[in-house]
Amino acid sequence: MANQQDIHLSETHLNAAIAHMQSLGIPTSPANIRVWYDYSEGENEDLNLAIDELRSASISFDPDLNYELYNRFYGELPNEQLEKFRAQLRSITTELGLELTGLNPDSGECESALAIAEKALADGCELDALKTITQQLIAESRKVVEQNNQMGQIVKSMQSKMSSLEVNLERASTEALTDKLTGIANRRAYDKKLDDVLMRLKPQSQTSLLMIDIDHFKRFNDTHGHLMGDKVLRFVAQMIKKVIKGDDFLARTGGEEFQLILEDCPLDDAVNIAEKIRQTIGSAHLTKGKERTPVGHVTLSIGVAHLSTEETRNDLINRVDKYLYEAKAKGRNRVVSNLETASA
Ligand code: GH3
Ligand code: MG
Ligand code: MG
Repeated sequence: MANQQDIHLSETHLNAAIAHMQSLGIPTSPANIRVWYDYSEGENEDLNLAIDELRSASISFDPDLNYELYNRFYGELPNEQLEKFRAQLRSITTELGLELTGLNPDSGECESALAIAEKALADGCELDALKTITQQLIAESRKVVEQNNQMGQIVKSMQSKMSSLEVNLERASTEALTDKLTGIANRRAYDKKLDDVLMRLKPQSQTSLLMIDIDHFKRFNDTHGHLMGDKVLRFVAQMIKKVIKGDDFLARTGGEEFQLILEDCPLDDAVNIAEKIRQTIGSAHLTKGKERTPVGHVTLSIGVAHLSTEETRNDLINRVDKYLYEAKAKGRNRVVSNLETASA
């Protein structure tokens, strides 16, 4: 049982969260409360850093930004949205179940798919499970249609409801993996991808990782405005995409930080790609507005590391972060890697 002190502490965090939300005009939805409760508690350093950066840049916490913050740090869709999908699927399964019982067709497998769906829905399943269940029900109900002409018309109308739910689930799941500002993968998608790459990694694999951070971006925002800053973020994402191949995985993993996973790419090639990215962006003449007023350049600092089966995920991230930090410390606008150490 939670003791009085824990309860008092939770209340303090909750009150602080609500005070922050009120002062910034953020609606007190469950998803927003979770973000700001954690911010008040202060244990999630990345979350606090991201919010502090946004606050110090006086960015307004509009619905898109609130959604993005939740998405970036908790990865799943807000529960309200998931619950809407669950309710839709629940109503479809109930309707489908009633039709099957009424007409008594040979529908054993469809009925067991329905039972699984009902159990999963009762357990409050997540987005991926909802997608799987919908696909299974569509497949099973298709079989029923094939086997039983009488059922055909009724189940077909149910199928069209399921298909539109499937489209919405697919869209939601793409949105949950996409960074709204730049259209590239977000932190959640990146975490999944890196887990997958590390799981498949073999001692002979040639996979490299780039951590890319825009230099003095706060100063750029302060000088040219946040909207211009947003345009630069989109520009940087597009330019990096032009330099890399289709299989390479680019994500926006923080405010002005990007990470790039290059599979089948030895360290020296990865360093060359990093150099190309750095030079392409650093040499672009940025302009503002219709008058195309020059606003100078933005530069990038980049850390590059080669993945090894002998290193943990945390150690890898810390190492590439260290290279990035070194690039900053040496004067920015440069690429740092362990190429020298690796070839020594
Ligand atoms: P450094 O060279 O050491 O990386 O300096 P920096 O100013 O880039 O780094 P710092 O971490 O101090 O500040 C990051 C800035 O990035 C703060 C904020 O103004 C900006 N930023 C973060 N997210 C966004 C965003 O979504 N849009 C815009 N326009 N700016 C953002
Ligand atoms: Mg920066
Ligand atoms: Mg940064």
